[in-house]
Amino acid sequence: MKTQPAYYTTEDPTAAVMHTYGRYPVTFVRGAGARLWDSHGKEYIDLLAGVAVVASGHANEAVARAITAHAHTLVHVSNYFWNEPMLSLANKLRSLSPWPAKMFFCNSGAEAIECALKLARKWAGKNRPNIVAAVKGFHGRTYGALAATGSPSKWEGFAPLPGGFVHAEFNHLESFDRAINGSTAAVLVEVIQGEGGVIPGTREFLRGLRDLCTRRGVLLILDEIQCGIGRTGTWWGFEQYGIVPDVFTSAKGLANGLPIGVCISAPEIAEALTPGTHGSTFGGGPLVCAAALANLEYIESQNLLGNAQLQGAYLTQQMQSLPGVKLVRGVGLMLAAVLTKPKAKEVAARALQAGVIVNNVTDDALRLVPPLVVTKQDIDTAVLRLLPILREVL
Ligand SMILES: *Cc1c(COP(=O)(O)O)cnc(C)c1O
Repeated sequence: MKTQPAYYTTEDPTAAVMHTYGRYPVTFVRGAGARLWDSHGKEYIDLLAGVAVVASGHANEAVARAITAHAHTLVHVSNYFWNEPMLSLANKLRSLSPWPAKMFFCNSGAEAIECALKLARKWAGKNRPNIVAAVKGFHGRTYGALAATGSPSKWEGFAPLPGGFVHAEFNHLESFDRAINGSTAAVLVEVIQGEGGVIPGTREFLRGLRDLCTRRGVLLILDEIQCGIGRTGTWWGFEQYGIVPDVFTSAKGLANGLPIGVCISAPEIAEALTPGTHGSTFGGGPLVCAAALANLEYIESQNLLGNAQLQGAYLTQQMQSLPGVKLVRGVGLMLAAVLTKPKAKEVAARALQAGVIVNNVTDDALRLVPPLVVTKQDIDTAVLRLLPILREVL
Protein backbone atom coordinates (compact mmCIF):
# COMPACT_ATOMS: atom_id res chain seq x y z
CA MET A 1 0.00 0.00 0.00
CA LYS A 2 1.23 3.48 -0.88
CA THR A 3 1.85 5.57 2.26
CA GLN A 4 0.99 9.26 2.05
CA PRO A 5 3.25 12.04 3.35
CA ALA A 6 2.21 13.46 6.75
CA TYR A 7 0.88 16.73 5.28
CA TYR A 8 -1.89 14.80 3.51
CA THR A 9 -3.51 14.01 6.85
CA THR A 10 -7.22 14.73 7.08
CA GLU A 11 -7.49 13.92 10.80
CA ASP A 12 -8.01 17.59 11.70
CA PRO A 13 -8.76 19.42 8.46
CA THR A 14 -9.19 22.77 10.28
CA ALA A 15 -5.59 22.71 11.59
CA ALA A 16 -4.04 24.05 8.37
CA VAL A 17 -6.99 25.99 6.91
CA MET A 18 -8.53 29.18 8.34
CA HIS A 19 -11.91 28.51 9.85
CA THR A 20 -13.87 30.99 7.72
CA TYR A 21 -16.51 28.53 6.51
CA GLY A 22 -18.91 26.14 8.23
CA ARG A 23 -18.08 23.10 6.14
CA TYR A 24 -19.85 19.77 5.98
CA PRO A 25 -17.57 16.79 6.70
CA VAL A 26 -17.70 15.64 3.08
CA THR A 27 -14.83 15.54 0.59
CA PHE A 28 -15.78 15.45 -3.07
CA VAL A 29 -13.38 13.74 -5.42
CA ARG A 30 -15.15 13.54 -8.79
CA GLY A 31 -18.06 14.96 -10.76
CA ALA A 32 -19.96 14.55 -14.04
CA GLY A 33 -22.78 16.83 -15.23
CA ALA A 34 -25.01 17.52 -12.23
CA ARG A 35 -23.62 14.59 -10.19
CA LEU A 36 -20.79 14.42 -7.66
CA TRP A 37 -19.06 11.56 -5.85
CA ASP A 38 -17.41 11.78 -2.43
CA SER A 39 -14.27 10.06 -1.15
CA HIS A 40 -16.35 7.03 -0.11
CA GLY A 41 -17.80 6.62 -3.59
CA LYS A 42 -21.27 7.92 -2.64
CA GLU A 43 -23.21 9.71 -5.41
CA TYR A 44 -24.99 13.06 -5.03
CA ILE A 45 -27.30 15.17 -7.20
CA ASP A 46 -25.77 18.62 -7.18
CA LEU A 47 -28.44 21.33 -6.98
CA LEU A 48 -25.85 23.94 -5.91
CA ALA A 49 -23.20 23.77 -8.67
CA GLY A 50 -20.47 25.20 -6.43
CA VAL A 51 -22.80 28.15 -5.76
CA ALA A 52 -24.08 28.82 -9.28
CA VAL A 53 -20.64 28.32 -10.81
CA VAL A 54 -20.45 25.04 -12.73
CA ALA A 55 -22.80 26.08 -15.57
CA SER A 56 -21.74 23.49 -18.18
CA GLY A 57 -21.57 20.73 -15.59
CA HIS A 58 -18.81 19.03 -13.65
CA ALA A 59 -15.85 17.72 -15.63
CA ASN A 60 -17.28 19.19 -18.83
CA GLU A 61 -15.39 17.65 -21.74
CA ALA A 62 -15.27 20.79 -23.95
CA VAL A 63 -13.97 22.95 -21.10
CA ALA A 64 -11.48 20.23 -20.06
CA ARG A 65 -10.12 20.13 -23.63
CA ALA A 66 -9.63 23.91 -23.64
CA ILE A 67 -7.87 23.81 -20.27
CA THR A 68 -5.52 20.99 -21.25
CA ALA A 69 -4.74 22.51 -24.63
CA HIS A 70 -3.73 25.83 -23.07
CA ALA A 71 -1.89 24.17 -20.18
CA HIS A 72 0.34 22.66 -22.85
CA THR A 73 0.76 25.83 -24.94
CA LEU A 74 0.52 29.04 -22.83
CA VAL A 75 -0.72 29.69 -19.29
CA HIS A 76 0.45 33.21 -18.42
CA VAL A 77 2.22 36.16 -20.06
CA SER A 78 1.18 39.28 -18.02
CA ASN A 79 -0.83 42.24 -19.22
CA TYR A 80 2.21 43.94 -20.76
CA PHE A 81 1.21 41.91 -23.83
CA TRP A 82 -1.84 40.65 -25.69
CA ASN A 83 -3.00 37.04 -25.76
CA GLU A 84 -5.46 35.45 -28.16
CA PRO A 85 -7.95 33.74 -25.79
CA MET A 86 -8.47 37.02 -23.90
CA LEU A 87 -9.31 38.87 -27.11
CA SER A 88 -11.61 36.07 -28.29
CA LEU A 89 -13.40 36.05 -24.95
CA ALA A 90 -13.70 39.85 -24.92
CA ASN A 91 -15.27 39.79 -28.38
CA LYS A 92 -17.58 36.93 -27.43
CA LEU A 93 -18.80 38.79 -24.33
CA ARG A 94 -19.13 41.93 -26.43
CA SER A 95 -21.47 40.07 -28.78
CA LEU A 96 -23.59 39.10 -25.76
CA SER A 97 -23.72 42.66 -24.40
CA PRO A 98 -26.40 45.30 -25.04
CA TRP A 99 -23.85 47.78 -26.47
CA PRO A 100 -20.32 47.53 -27.99
CA ALA A 101 -18.88 46.70 -24.58
CA LYS A 102 -15.38 47.02 -23.16
CA MET A 103 -14.07 44.46 -20.67
CA PHE A 104 -11.74 44.47 -17.70
CA PHE A 105 -10.75 40.92 -16.75
CA CYS A 106 -9.91 39.89 -13.20
CA ASN A 107 -10.11 36.76 -11.06
CA SER A 108 -13.26 36.84 -8.94
CA GLY A 109 -16.62 38.44 -8.43
CA ALA A 110 -15.40 40.80 -5.73
CA GLU A 111 -12.65 42.07 -8.02
CA ALA A 112 -15.15 42.68 -10.82
CA ILE A 113 -17.14 44.81 -8.34
CA GLU A 114 -14.00 46.69 -7.27
CA CYS A 115 -13.38 47.56 -10.91
CA ALA A 116 -16.98 48.73 -11.38
CA LEU A 117 -16.72 50.92 -8.25
CA LYS A 118 -13.42 52.47 -9.31
CA LEU A 119 -14.76 53.01 -12.82
CA ALA A 120 -17.91 54.73 -11.47
CA ARG A 121 -15.90 57.10 -9.27
CA LYS A 122 -13.42 57.96 -12.02
CA TRP A 123 -16.29 58.55 -14.43
CA ALA A 124 -18.30 60.73 -12.03
CA GLY A 125 -15.39 62.85 -10.80
CA LYS A 126 -14.28 63.71 -7.29
CA ASN A 127 -17.39 65.60 -6.19
CA ARG A 128 -19.68 62.62 -6.76
CA PRO A 129 -18.10 59.60 -5.04
CA ASN A 130 -21.16 57.93 -3.52
CA ILE A 131 -22.57 54.54 -4.42
CA VAL A 132 -26.14 53.58 -3.55
CA ALA A 133 -26.57 49.82 -3.06
CA ALA A 134 -29.39 47.63 -1.74
CA VAL A 135 -30.08 46.34 1.74
CA LYS A 136 -29.37 42.59 1.72
CA GLY A 137 -27.47 42.92 -1.56
CA PHE A 138 -24.25 40.92 -1.78
CA HIS A 139 -21.19 41.99 -3.75
CA GLY A 140 -18.20 40.19 -2.21
CA ARG A 141 -15.74 40.22 0.68
CA THR A 142 -12.98 42.65 -0.32
CA TYR A 143 -13.23 46.09 1.30
CA GLY A 144 -15.02 47.99 -1.47
CA ALA A 145 -17.34 45.10 -2.28
CA LEU A 146 -17.94 44.54 1.44
CA ALA A 147 -18.87 48.19 1.96
CA ALA A 148 -21.34 47.85 -0.93
CA THR A 149 -22.80 44.66 0.57
CA GLY A 150 -25.98 45.50 2.47
CA SER A 151 -25.63 43.10 5.42
CA PRO A 152 -24.17 44.81 8.51
CA SER A 153 -23.40 41.41 10.08
CA LYS A 154 -20.75 40.88 7.38
CA TRP A 155 -19.04 44.19 8.31
CA GLU A 156 -18.63 43.29 11.98
CA GLY A 157 -15.04 43.54 13.22
CA PHE A 158 -13.73 44.99 9.94
CA ALA A 159 -14.22 48.73 10.51
CA PRO A 160 -13.32 51.21 9.22
CA LEU A 161 -14.90 50.37 5.90
CA PRO A 162 -14.33 52.61 2.86
CA GLY A 163 -16.75 55.55 2.94
CA GLY A 164 -19.23 56.71 0.36
CA PHE A 165 -21.67 53.79 0.47
CA VAL A 166 -25.38 54.23 1.16
CA HIS A 167 -28.01 51.50 1.31
CA ALA A 168 -31.61 51.70 0.17
CA GLU A 169 -34.48 49.20 0.34
CA PHE A 170 -34.51 46.66 -2.50
CA ASN A 171 -37.78 46.65 -4.48
CA HIS A 172 -38.59 50.09 -3.05
CA LEU A 173 -38.10 52.74 -5.71
CA GLU A 174 -38.82 55.66 -3.40
CA SER A 175 -36.07 54.55 -1.04
CA PHE A 176 -33.56 54.71 -3.92
CA ASP A 177 -35.00 58.02 -5.08
CA ARG A 178 -34.36 59.46 -1.61
CA ALA A 179 -30.85 57.96 -1.36
CA ILE A 180 -29.63 59.44 -4.67
CA ASN A 181 -28.33 63.01 -4.44
CA GLY A 182 -25.76 65.36 -5.98
CA SER A 183 -22.91 63.23 -4.53
CA THR A 184 -24.06 59.98 -6.15
CA ALA A 185 -21.94 58.36 -8.85
CA ALA A 186 -23.83 55.10 -9.28
CA VAL A 187 -26.48 52.68 -8.14
CA LEU A 188 -25.34 49.06 -7.70
CA VAL A 189 -27.86 46.19 -7.39
CA GLU A 190 -28.43 42.55 -8.32
CA VAL A 191 -31.60 42.05 -10.39
CA ILE A 192 -32.17 38.89 -8.34
CA GLN A 193 -30.55 39.03 -4.91
CA GLY A 194 -28.69 35.73 -4.54
CA GLU A 195 -27.07 35.56 -1.10
CA GLY A 196 -29.96 37.66 0.22
CA GLY A 197 -32.25 34.65 -0.32
CA VAL A 198 -32.98 34.52 -4.06
CA ILE A 199 -35.21 37.60 -4.07
CA PRO A 200 -36.17 38.67 -7.60
CA GLY A 201 -36.42 42.37 -8.24
CA THR A 202 -39.89 43.33 -9.38
CA ARG A 203 -40.34 44.53 -12.95
CA GLU A 204 -41.76 47.78 -11.71
CA PHE A 205 -38.80 48.42 -9.38
CA LEU A 206 -36.02 47.60 -11.84
CA ARG A 207 -37.58 49.47 -14.74
CA GLY A 208 -38.24 52.39 -12.44
CA LEU A 209 -34.65 52.25 -11.19
CA ARG A 210 -33.34 52.34 -14.75
CA ASP A 211 -35.40 55.46 -15.48
CA LEU A 212 -34.41 57.03 -12.18
CA CYS A 213 -30.67 56.56 -12.86
CA THR A 214 -31.03 58.03 -16.34
CA ARG A 215 -33.00 61.02 -15.08
CA ARG A 216 -30.58 61.74 -12.22
CA GLY A 217 -27.48 61.19 -14.37
CA VAL A 218 -26.00 58.36 -12.30
CA LEU A 219 -24.72 55.01 -13.54
CA LEU A 220 -26.78 51.86 -13.13
CA ILE A 221 -24.36 49.04 -12.32
CA LEU A 222 -25.93 45.58 -12.30
CA ASP A 223 -24.18 42.76 -10.43
CA GLU A 224 -24.75 39.74 -12.70
CA ILE A 225 -22.18 37.59 -10.88
CA GLN A 226 -24.75 35.04 -9.72
CA CYS A 227 -27.75 35.55 -12.00
CA GLY A 228 -25.79 35.92 -15.27
CA ILE A 229 -24.38 33.37 -17.78
CA GLY A 230 -27.73 31.84 -18.68
CA ARG A 231 -28.92 30.99 -15.19
CA THR A 232 -32.29 32.74 -15.59
CA GLY A 233 -32.81 31.40 -19.12
CA THR A 234 -31.33 34.48 -20.80
CA TRP A 235 -27.62 35.33 -20.92
CA TRP A 236 -28.10 38.09 -18.37
CA GLY A 237 -30.66 38.48 -15.62
CA PHE A 238 -31.43 42.04 -16.72
CA GLU A 239 -32.80 40.71 -20.04
CA GLN A 240 -35.67 39.20 -18.02
CA TYR A 241 -36.71 42.75 -17.17
CA GLY A 242 -36.11 44.41 -20.51
CA ILE A 243 -33.61 46.86 -19.03
CA VAL A 244 -30.05 47.77 -19.99
CA PRO A 245 -27.39 48.74 -17.43
CA ASP A 246 -24.46 51.12 -17.95
CA VAL A 247 -21.98 48.69 -16.42
CA PHE A 248 -22.34 45.08 -15.27
CA THR A 249 -20.21 42.41 -13.63
CA SER A 250 -19.89 38.69 -14.25
CA ALA A 251 -17.90 35.92 -12.58
CA LYS A 252 -19.39 32.75 -11.06
CA GLY A 253 -20.67 30.83 -14.10
CA LEU A 254 -18.26 32.38 -16.58
CA ALA A 255 -15.44 29.80 -16.70
CA ASN A 256 -17.27 26.75 -15.31
CA GLY A 257 -15.26 26.75 -12.09
CA LEU A 258 -11.98 28.39 -12.99
CA PRO A 259 -11.37 31.73 -11.24
CA ILE A 260 -12.41 34.67 -13.40
CA GLY A 261 -14.28 37.94 -13.09
CA VAL A 262 -15.10 40.65 -15.59
CA CYS A 263 -16.38 44.20 -15.43
CA ILE A 264 -18.33 44.94 -18.62
CA SER A 265 -18.89 48.59 -19.48
CA ALA A 266 -20.60 50.69 -22.10
CA PRO A 267 -17.75 52.06 -24.26
CA GLU A 268 -18.05 55.77 -23.44
CA ILE A 269 -17.97 55.09 -19.68
CA ALA A 270 -15.04 52.65 -19.95
CA GLU A 271 -12.85 55.49 -21.24
CA ALA A 272 -12.64 56.80 -17.65
CA LEU A 273 -10.10 54.09 -16.80
CA THR A 274 -6.88 55.14 -18.53
CA PRO A 275 -3.50 53.32 -18.68
CA GLY A 276 -2.05 52.69 -15.23
CA THR A 277 -5.29 53.34 -13.29
CA HIS A 278 -6.29 49.71 -12.73
CA GLY A 279 -4.76 46.28 -13.13
CA SER A 280 -4.54 42.60 -12.22
CA THR A 281 -1.53 40.28 -12.59
CA PHE A 282 -3.55 37.17 -13.43
CA GLY A 283 -6.57 38.88 -15.02
CA GLY A 284 -7.27 37.86 -18.62
CA GLY A 285 -4.77 34.99 -18.61
CA PRO A 286 -4.92 32.70 -21.67
CA LEU A 287 -5.79 29.47 -19.87
CA VAL A 288 -8.76 30.82 -17.91
CA CYS A 289 -10.04 32.84 -20.87
CA ALA A 290 -9.85 29.77 -23.14
CA ALA A 291 -11.86 27.82 -20.55
CA ALA A 292 -14.45 30.62 -20.35
CA LEU A 293 -14.76 30.78 -24.11
CA ALA A 294 -15.26 26.99 -24.33
CA ASN A 295 -17.86 27.25 -21.57
CA LEU A 296 -19.81 30.01 -23.38
CA GLU A 297 -19.65 28.09 -26.66
CA TYR A 298 -20.89 24.94 -24.91
CA ILE A 299 -23.79 26.82 -23.31
CA GLU A 300 -24.72 28.16 -26.74
CA SER A 301 -24.30 24.93 -28.75
CA GLN A 302 -26.26 22.85 -26.23
CA ASN A 303 -28.99 25.51 -25.81
CA LEU A 304 -28.49 25.56 -22.05
CA LEU A 305 -30.50 28.80 -21.89
CA GLY A 306 -33.45 26.78 -23.16
CA ASN A 307 -32.64 24.00 -20.68
CA ALA A 308 -32.53 26.52 -17.81
CA GLN A 309 -36.06 27.63 -18.75
CA LEU A 310 -37.34 24.08 -19.23
CA GLN A 311 -35.77 22.45 -16.18
CA GLY A 312 -36.32 25.58 -14.10
CA ALA A 313 -40.05 25.30 -14.71
CA TYR A 314 -39.97 21.54 -14.00
CA LEU A 315 -37.91 21.91 -10.80
CA THR A 316 -40.26 24.68 -9.62
CA GLN A 317 -43.30 22.50 -10.24
CA GLN A 318 -41.76 19.41 -8.60
CA MET A 319 -40.53 21.29 -5.52
CA GLN A 320 -43.88 23.03 -5.13
CA SER A 321 -45.55 19.63 -4.91
CA LEU A 322 -43.41 18.56 -1.93
CA PRO A 323 -44.78 18.64 1.64
CA GLY A 324 -43.51 21.58 3.72
CA VAL A 325 -42.72 23.74 0.69
CA LYS A 326 -44.72 26.97 0.88
CA LEU A 327 -43.62 28.38 -2.47
CA VAL A 328 -40.77 28.42 -4.95
CA ARG A 329 -39.43 31.83 -6.02
CA GLY A 330 -36.85 32.83 -8.60
CA VAL A 331 -36.31 32.70 -12.35
CA GLY A 332 -35.03 29.85 -14.56
CA LEU A 333 -32.50 27.81 -12.58
CA MET A 334 -31.99 30.46 -9.93
CA LEU A 335 -34.57 29.30 -7.40
CA ALA A 336 -35.36 29.11 -3.71
CA ALA A 337 -37.86 26.74 -2.12
CA VAL A 338 -39.43 28.52 0.84
CA LEU A 339 -40.33 26.12 3.65
CA THR A 340 -43.32 26.36 5.96
CA LYS A 341 -40.94 26.41 8.98
CA PRO A 342 -37.44 27.91 9.51
CA LYS A 343 -35.76 24.53 9.20
CA ALA A 344 -33.69 24.97 6.04
CA LYS A 345 -30.42 24.17 7.81
CA GLU A 346 -31.70 20.83 9.08
CA VAL A 347 -33.23 19.95 5.70
CA ALA A 348 -29.99 20.80 3.85
CA ALA A 349 -27.90 18.67 6.23
CA ARG A 350 -30.25 15.70 5.90
CA ALA A 351 -30.51 16.14 2.14
CA LEU A 352 -26.73 15.86 1.93
CA GLN A 353 -26.88 12.56 3.81
CA ALA A 354 -29.54 11.41 1.37
CA GLY A 355 -27.42 12.41 -1.64
CA VAL A 356 -28.82 15.83 -2.63
CA ILE A 357 -26.83 19.06 -2.39
CA VAL A 358 -28.92 22.14 -1.59
CA ASN A 359 -28.02 25.30 0.33
CA ASN A 360 -29.93 26.83 3.22
CA VAL A 361 -29.61 30.37 1.90
CA THR A 362 -31.86 31.71 4.69
CA ASP A 363 -33.45 30.09 7.77
CA ASP A 364 -36.52 29.13 5.78
CA ALA A 365 -35.30 28.84 2.18
CA LEU A 366 -33.34 26.26 0.21
CA ARG A 367 -31.35 27.69 -2.71
CA LEU A 368 -31.56 25.61 -5.89
CA VAL A 369 -28.97 26.65 -8.49
CA PRO A 370 -27.98 23.42 -10.29
CA PRO A 371 -25.66 23.20 -13.29
CA LEU A 372 -27.48 24.38 -16.43
CA VAL A 373 -27.04 20.86 -17.84
CA VAL A 374 -29.30 19.36 -15.15
CA THR A 375 -31.72 16.79 -16.60
CA LYS A 376 -35.30 15.81 -15.80
CA GLN A 377 -33.91 12.54 -14.47
CA ASP A 378 -31.53 14.39 -12.11
CA ILE A 379 -34.46 16.44 -10.81
CA ASP A 380 -36.71 13.37 -10.40
CA THR A 381 -34.00 11.57 -8.41
CA ALA A 382 -33.35 14.64 -6.23
CA VAL A 383 -37.05 15.14 -5.52
CA LEU A 384 -37.49 11.44 -4.66
CA ARG A 385 -34.63 11.72 -2.16
CA LEU A 386 -35.97 14.97 -0.67
CA LEU A 387 -39.56 13.76 -0.20
CA PRO A 388 -39.11 11.64 2.97
CA ILE A 389 -36.87 14.32 4.55
CA LEU A 390 -39.37 17.12 4.05
CA ARG A 391 -42.18 14.86 5.28
CA GLU A 392 -40.22 14.12 8.45
CA VAL A 393 -38.75 17.53 9.25
CA LEU A 394 -41.76 19.73 8.37
C1 LIG B 1 -20.63 35.49 -5.27
C2 LIG B 1 -21.01 36.87 -5.53
C3 LIG B 1 -20.07 37.92 -5.49
C4 LIG B 1 -18.65 37.70 -5.05
O1 LIG B 1 -17.93 36.84 -5.88
P1 LIG B 1 -16.54 36.21 -5.37
O2 LIG B 1 -16.03 35.49 -6.57
O3 LIG B 1 -16.86 35.31 -4.22
O4 LIG B 1 -15.68 37.33 -4.96
C5 LIG B 1 -20.50 39.19 -5.83
N1 LIG B 1 -21.77 39.42 -6.20
C6 LIG B 1 -22.69 38.44 -6.26
C7 LIG B 1 -24.08 38.76 -6.70
C8 LIG B 1 -22.35 37.13 -5.91
O5 LIG B 1 -23.28 36.17 -5.94
